[in-house]
Amino acid sequence: MVPRPENKSAPAGAPGPAPGPQAPAPMASLESGIVVSEEELGSVKAQRLYKMRCECGRSWFELELPKIVECPACKKLGLVSA
Ligand SMILES: [Zn+2]
Repeated sequence: MVPRPENKSAPAGAPGPAPGPQAPAPMASLESGIVVSEEELGSVKAQRLYKMRCECGRSWFELELPKIVECPACKKLGLVSA
């Protein structure tokens, strides 16, 4: 299961008690975890892109950081510096 993103805020309508000295911490976090899973969360995939920029002004993206790359515009090989 994913880490609980909504751990801090108590969900509205949940029967859980307000956070206080009596509230059992593990129970409360478990409840909010269940609530989160009921709210149909989509899945988001993060993808890293490296933006290349050639001397000629052309910029494009690469999925991996190459050491040497050929510019799609001027076809010049360039040394990539981050
Ligand atoms: Zn270029």
